[in-house]
Parts: sequence; structure tokens; C-alpha cells
Amino acid sequence: MALRDIITVPDPRLKQVSTPVDTVDDDLRALMDDMLETMYAAPGIGLAAVQVAVPLRVIVMDLAKGEDAPAPRYFVNPEILWRSDEVTPYEEGCLSVPDIYDEVERPSRVKLRYMNYHGETVEEEAEGVFAVCIQHEMDHLEGVLFIDYLSRLKRSRAVAKVKKAAKAA
Ligand SMILES: [Zn+2]
Repeated sequence: MALRDIITVPDPRLKQVSTPVDTVDDDLRALMDDMLETMYAAPGIGLAAVQVAVPLRVIVMDLAKGEDAPAPRYFVNPEILWRSDEVTPYEEGCLSVPDIYDEVERPSRVKLRYMNYHGETVEEEAEGVFAVCIQHEMDHLEGVLFIDYLSRLKRSRAVAKVKKAAKAA
């Protein structure tokens, strides 16, 4: 396994639409292993492949809290089959927009279909933080960031802050 570099705004590669994966093979699992390690090191709870500059429709996630055992999850070619009309606001952050947090409203529950680490097709419902996180990560596959939901002023301030911090580092 290896750590990958996480790209940050305003890197234009974050705006690209990711390509579907053909098959879940050892090469893809190696990518997912790297992504998970990179996410844990950051630390973060979700990461899309495009954030490590690989524009494939792949997401890793771990929502285990505190002392809980790690619970890695892998989503290949995820699709949303259904969204609730009900929405919930949640304060989001993003490893590609470090140290910026703001509230985004999204459907409270979604039904998903995806392939897992073994290439098996899974359907399941997500709610709570899981629903927030999977929708946030799936936006990355379309080149959409959570700051795109904010006002133009807030968005440009966020990008400027990240740029400044990156320059100082
Ligand atoms: Zn993100």
C-alpha cells in the first residue's frame, strides 16, 4: 500500500467527470487499498478516486467512530436509485477543501447500488452520516464539490483560504 497525494482546490482535475470501472480486479483493489490508507492518514471519513487524481468511479469510506474497530467500505460505480423528499442539513468538510466547513442540505435517505471490494453488486439504503457522506463523495464523481452549493462569495473565500494555506505550507 502507498499513500497518494490528495489534490485540493482550485486544481481543475477535481472538476472532471470520473469514468465507470469495467471490472473489479487486483489493480483496482490496489488503488482502493491506497485510497483507504491515504484517507486514514489525512484523516478523513470518505475519499473519491478523483481526489488522488485518478478519475474513476471509486469511493472509499469509514464511518467508525473513536475506539471502534475500522469499518472500511468500498463503492465502485455507485448509483443512487432513490432519494427521499425529506432533506437534512449537515456541516460538511472535504479533504480537497481543507479546514473549510459549511452546511449543505441533501436528501436524508438514499437507496444505492454499487459494486463492493469483491466486485459483487450490492443494493442498500443509507441514512444519517452515511447518506451525507455517500452523496458528497458521489458528487466528486461528477466534478462537484460541497462548496459548489454555497454562495459564490463563500465559495471564492474558501478557495482563496485553501490556496493561501497551500502556499504557506
Ligand atoms: Zn470531498
